[in-house]
Amino acid sequence: MKLISVPALVRIKPGALGRLGLYLRRGGQRRTLVLTSQGLPPAVTATLLAGFEAEGIEAEALREVADNRFEDAAAAFTTLPGKLQAVVGVGGGKALDMAKYLAFLARLPYFAVPTSLSNDGFCSPQSSLTMAGARRSLAAALPLGVVIDTDVCLSAPRLLWLSGVGDLASKLTAVFDWKLAFHHRQEPVDDLAALLSDATVHQFMDNPSFDAKGMELLGTALMLNGIAMEICGSSRPASGSEHLISHALDASSARPRLHGLQVGVASYIVSRLQGGVQTANLAGLFEATGFFAAVRADPFSREEWLAAVQYAPSIKDDYFTVLSLRDCLGEVRAIIDNDPRLAGCFTQ
Ligand SMILES: [Zn+2]
Repeated sequence: MKLISVPALVRIKPGALGRLGLYLRRGGQRRTLVLTSQGLPPAVTATLLAGFEAEGIEAEALREVADNRFEDAAAAFTTLPGKLQAVVGVGGGKALDMAKYLAFLARLPYFAVPTSLSNDGFCSPQSSLTMAGARRSLAAALPLGVVIDTDVCLSAPRLLWLSGVGDLASKLTAVFDWKLAFHHRQEPVDDLAALLSDATVHQFMDNPSFDAKGMELLGTALMLNGIAMEICGSSRPASGSEHLISHALDASSARPRLHGLQVGVASYIVSRLQGGVQTANLAGLFEATGFFAAVRADPFSREEWLAAVQYAPSIKDDYFTVLSLRDCLGEVRAIIDNDPRLAGCFTQ
């Protein structure tokens, strides 16, 4: 039995942002450091601070985060205000990654308040930062609190929601790759983590709507995926060959796209390499949500993707996936060129 630390406070509902002050007061966290994303709508900050004021919560510092540099996090750590009781991250990826890492360094409770749900990073046990310019996943702790205001997330661009849908759906192929690694390399599979990961996707698939209910299900599912990673101590339940392809694109593409758009399309493609068990599920979800339509509106580069598929197996040491089984380049080329569902998703 291992000790894991999971969120104790979870509020995923309309109006949750304005109640954050109340949640903090109940937990005795009165002195906070708040990191927000650059360009956050002023109404979001105003709602947060009004709630703080009503409950007597002090934001010792309210800092806007433009970058996710490890060097900045380390410097901020050395100049933290004294007697802080919590770190709060509000907004998107970079602010949340910085806040999570800073809380981890300072051993302070962390409250994640994503204002859009474009990926599973808000509740994962790693912080995605850059170190000397290179992207790194650094160990961190899960948040103590996850507060998602579904109204706020619904007012964010729909493309961010579709990215979250893509990141969530990719868990189906990630878990398949994990099981392949068990069969071919005897890599142990944590059954509970795999089950949790799989179950969350299916729960969302039953109601993949862009409304308060769909947003609540997506937030819950992405959060539980982060917890699945914490349970097994690896990224296996959330990340397989589709993530390797996306990482390869991030490193080589002239214009990398949203993480979830890349992993969603990659997940659909690798589902076919994996024998097609999940292909219909993914296709159904992507048609129903308008995911494919959004990709067609700004298609990917076919050449960049083929290069990324070649590069992907060497991205992570000792990470067995379907791409390790055989050279898949020819198959991927045929899928991109001939699969009717992908028509218009790639430039020729
Ligand atoms: Zn992801």
